Formats: sequence, C-alpha cells, structure tokens
Amino acid sequence: MQLDSYTILIACCGLLVIFGAAYVVLWAYDRRSHWLLWWGLPLVFNGVALTLYARAGWQTDFVSIAFGNGARIFALGCMWYAVRLFAGRRPPWGAISALSLLWVALCLYPPFLGSMEARIVGVSVLNAVICALTARELWIDRGDGLHSRLPLAGAFAAYGVLMLVRIAMVPFAPFPFGAGPLDPTWLAVYSWLVVGLAIFATVFFLAMTMERREAEQRSFALSDPLTGLLNRRAFGDFAQRMARRRSGLPDPMALLVLDLDHFKLINDRHGHEVGDRMLRAFADAAEDSVRPTDQLFRMGGEEFCFVLPGTTIDDAILIAERVRRAFESVVIETGQESASTTVSIGIAATSFAVDVPILLAAADAAVYEAKARGRNRVIVAEPSTLLRSQDDTIPLRRRA
Ligand code: GH3
Ligand code: MG
Ligand code: MG
Repeated sequence: MQLDSYTILIACCGLLVIFGAAYVVLWAYDRRSHWLLWWGLPLVFNGVALTLYARAGWQTDFVSIAFGNGARIFALGCMWYAVRLFAGRRPPWGAISALSLLWVALCLYPPFLGSMEARIVGVSVLNAVICALTARELWIDRGDGLHSRLPLAGAFAAYGVLMLVRIAMVPFAPFPFGAGPLDPTWLAVYSWLVVGLAIFATVFFLAMTMERREAEQRSFALSDPLTGLLNRRAFGDFAQRMARRRSGLPDPMALLVLDLDHFKLINDRHGHEVGDRMLRAFADAAEDSVRPTDQLFRMGGEEFCFVLPGTTIDDAILIAERVRRAFESVVIETGQESASTTVSIGIAATSFAVDVPILLAAADAAVYEAKARGRNRVIVAEPSTLLRSQDDTIPLRRRA
C-alpha cells in the first residue's frame, strides 16, 4: 500500500484536531484549568487550517498567505498564552497580536509576498520567537517540582530549532523545508516532525496539569485549614524523611512541643470562634519568633510542634522563651472583654542521630512536666530519655 503526501498531511491534521478536541472536553470538566482551552482550540484551529490549506493546492493569493499564516502565528501565540496562564502570569496579548500583525504587514509589501524564500524565512522567524518565549516561560519555573515541565520546554525548543533549520535550508531544499518545488516525501517528513512535536508537547502539558493537581491535593492533605500550618500527617512524613536522612549525621537538632494553657477555658468563656482566633494568633506569633528554616506543625487541638534543624539545646531554649514571651503578650479583643492565655513548652534536643518519635516523646514528657510545675514555662527533657530504646518510648499523649 502506498500513501500520498496529501493523505499523510490530512491524517496528521486529524490527529491535531482529535488532541485539541480532547483538551476542550477536559477543560469542560475542569473549568479552573483555563489553559486547557487555550491550548486545545489552537490545535483544532491548526488542524482545520492546514487541511484547508492543503486542499487549496498551495495557492499564493494574499488572503490565504497573509491571513492564513497570520492566524496560525496567532494560534501558536495562544499556546504561549496557555503556558503563561498555567504559570499565573499576565496574558501576552500585545506581543501575540504584534507578531501576527507584523506578518500581515510584511505581506502588504509586494516583493515580500511574491518571494517564497522571504515568506518562509519570515514565518519561521516569527514561529521561532514564540517558541523561544514559551520555552523560556516553562524554564523559569523549573524549580517547582513538576517533572513534565522540562520535556514540554524541550518540545518548544525543538520546534524553534526546526524553524531555524528551515531558514538555513531555504535556498536549496524542496518545500516545505525550503523554497524549492513541493516534494511529497519532504512534506511527509515535515508534517510528522511538526505534528509529532505538537502531540508530544500536548501530552506533557496535560501531564503537567495533572502533576499540579496532585501536588495541590497532597498539600491540602498535609495542611491544617484553620492555621495554614502543616498538620500531624505532614509531621509523620517529615519524621520518615528524617529517619532516612539523619542516620549517621551528627547535626544538632531540637524539637519543641507547645501546648496552650487552659485553652478549654478560653472556649468556655469566650466561645469557639475566639478560641479559633487564639489558635491563629498563636501560629502567627510562633512563626514570627523563629527562623525560616524552622518548621511549625499543628499536631491537633491546641498542641503544636516546632522542628529546629541545626539547633543546640541552648539556642532551642532561647527560641522557646521567645515564643513563650511573644504569645504571653497576645490579646484577642472580643467586644467588651479581651482574651489571652499562655503556652507551656517542652524541649528535646540531640547532637546525635535519634529518631524523631523518640525526640517527640521526650519533648512531650517535658511539656507535661511544665504543666505540672504551673504552666507558662519552658522545660528541657532529661537527656537520658533520649537514650531509651524506641520500644520504651512514652506513647504520645493526646491532650486535645
Ligand atoms: P492544659 O493547660 O492542661 O493544656 O488545659 P487545656 O484546657 O489547654 O487542655 P484540654 O486538653 O483540657 O483542652 C483543650 C481544648 O482545646 C479542648 C478542645 O475543645 C479545644 N480545641 C481543640 N481543637 C480546637 C479548635 O480547633 N478550635 C477551638 N476553638 N478549640 C479547640
Ligand atoms: Mg492545653
Ligand atoms: Mg493539649
């Protein structure tokens, strides 16, 4: 069986339309992801436009060249827009319109319109510029942990390079690579390259969207909605990570357990809503009193835990005192009255590899002692509690 180049082109265009339509359907299910629409529509448009263009028999009239290519430059610009939308940046409509109109303006110049070489160079340069801008857009945010980002940036970079190769081939290669007479084989190769890259990019753009949704759900599952702090589940993940990382590392590390004093009375006297405001105020005061590397978790109820990496026992005491004093001065206005309370803090610190649950149990025992000694104080856990085997550790009490 033999396939002519026109059939291959139509098949490629059909793939573009199918992938584009799939994006529009996905957007209909997930309207928050507007970028799916702005990516899908240009694919459908390009598929239809290329089919019409092929059917028209490669004519060289002003309308099909100026407006057909201008619209396709605009459609590629929409994909750049989709990528910017994904990144939460402003729409680049000015630049996209300028690049498309520049093409139409060039076509108004008869020597340009009449020269196939000039037109191929012009359209390739404009496409390469949009691809470079899109690849750059994706590259800027490469630290966000979305693995599909780099293959997608690579697809745009490759398309840009293909456009530059096309410019270099203009003088001697047949159309569509160069300005020579159309060659069916070269047309098939070109169609597969362009459509292959478009489909590759489309798959990875969708994968990037799904990766982001997954990351959002993970962060939702690990955060406490009231204070915005990490929750107990996140602490469990952290403990597991540390168990893998800390073995053999002699860095000092301190862990603080913080429990608000007589918090039930705040709820009983002023209502649950004031209690909630107090919890948020505590989270703010505590975070303001420490370094960005220190991590605060809400373990449940009115119980919190601070992890202070690279911190000696003396520094941990200073930090705990700072948090205690900062919270002591917090006052919640409740109309006629005002509400305030204090915090009891237990510290466990180590300079050798100790499992996080052992540190947590020791700090928890220390906070229990702080309560027994009258509250609003900082107590350091006995170092001997850290030397017990994990089996002996005191199970963490749930006071909330
Ligand atoms: P102690 O000084 O011994 O720690 O006494 P306490 O009253 O702070 O401790 P207790 O464990 O008796 O009470 C904790 C209270 O915290 C009881 C619970 O209703 C309240 N609480 C737990 N979670 C929340 C919350 O999300 N919002 C509010 N407003 N209250 C909460
Ligand atoms: Mg309490
Ligand atoms: Mg408690």
